[in-house]
Amino acid sequence: MRVPFIAGNWKMNKTARESIDFVQEVADKLPAPAEVETAVAAPALVLQSMVAAAAGTPLRIVGENCFYENEGAYTGEISPAVLKEIGVNYVILGHSERRLYFHESDEVINKKVLAAIDNNLLPIVCCDETMGRQAAGDKIHWVVSQIMADLRGLTEEQMKTVTVAYEPSWAIGTGQSASSAQAEEGCYLIRQTIADIYNDELANHIRVLYGGSVKPGNIAEIMAKPNIDGVLVGNASLEADSFLKLANYQN
Ligand code: PEP
Repeated sequence: MRVPFIAGNWKMNKTARESIDFVQEVADKLPAPAEVETAVAAPALVLQSMVAAAAGTPLRIVGENCFYENEGAYTGEISPAVLKEIGVNYVILGHSERRLYFHESDEVINKKVLAAIDNNLLPIVCCDETMGRQAAGDKIHWVVSQIMADLRGLTEEQMKTVTVAYEPSWAIGTGQSASSAQAEEGCYLIRQTIADIYNDELANHIRVLYGGSVKPGNIAEIMAKPNIDGVLVGNASLEADSFLKLANYQN
């Protein structure tokens, strides 16, 4: 049984004070983690205080990025070992904004995924897709090649720690979600690729999320699809009220 996973991605959008206020506001209104797992990803600077604020609540805390080395001469980078040390549970890797603005390649993302797992962080690996590729009918090749490259060399045991997110760039932050059928198609493709590389059992174990303009009004339809195990949500995760509606989508 794959437990539904509702994860917010705040990007660079909240102050430290706002982040703590949010955690305090949602903490006792979240579903039981065995029924629906909930998490928010926040900028590195506020993670430690968020971990403290969320202690004893169901809310998991997620890093938005990490580097592929634990220490060294890498000015400005975020150590996966330190994320783990301060109590972070998950880390988003390969988000389309990291690929676009920070030129992260699949090779770099693969190294980051391996480093995160080495440090007992649970990676949420994002797989994007542009409108141009969708229009050119290149979607299958693009999604499959990203998954193969980003997860290259992971053992079956390591794969069990991974969550994958299908996030078409044309749906991110645009207010224009993929239809539930398009979202299901992308998530199915990712699961099928994992089955092809590994096996059906592993593919059925792994959670695949959809991300791209999910909101309280469309989450139920998206979550009803068989290959979608959760959502990664930007804008609609920023307000506590909206996040709580997403987290409690089953009610
Ligand atoms: C995201 O940033 O991963 C995302 C899906 O953003 P939004 O929900 O705003 O489209």
